[in-house]
Amino acid sequence: MVKGNKSKIDNLGRVVIPKSIRKALNVEHNDEISMHVENQALIITKNNNVCTICVKEKIEIQIKDKYLCKSCVETIKGF
Ligand SMILES: [Zn+2]
Repeated sequence: MVKGNKSKIDNLGRVVIPKSIRKALNVEHNDEISMHVENQALIITKNNNVCTICVKEKIEIQIKDKYLCKSCVETIKGF
């Protein structure tokens, strides 16, 4: 587990991701990330590894600049 220093959320809701965390996630300036809440924890994920919709599953299909998992593609097909 990589730990960062404590950060405060500013009045616009922004927070600095500590350098140790950025390094561990291999995220750099201008990289796109996704966030979701799981068991009361904020999960931040670098976007090129996960599905655009569920932000969890391994990506299987790329449509333009979006990545989708098999499960979400099947869900979309059902509509
Ligand atoms: Zn998905």
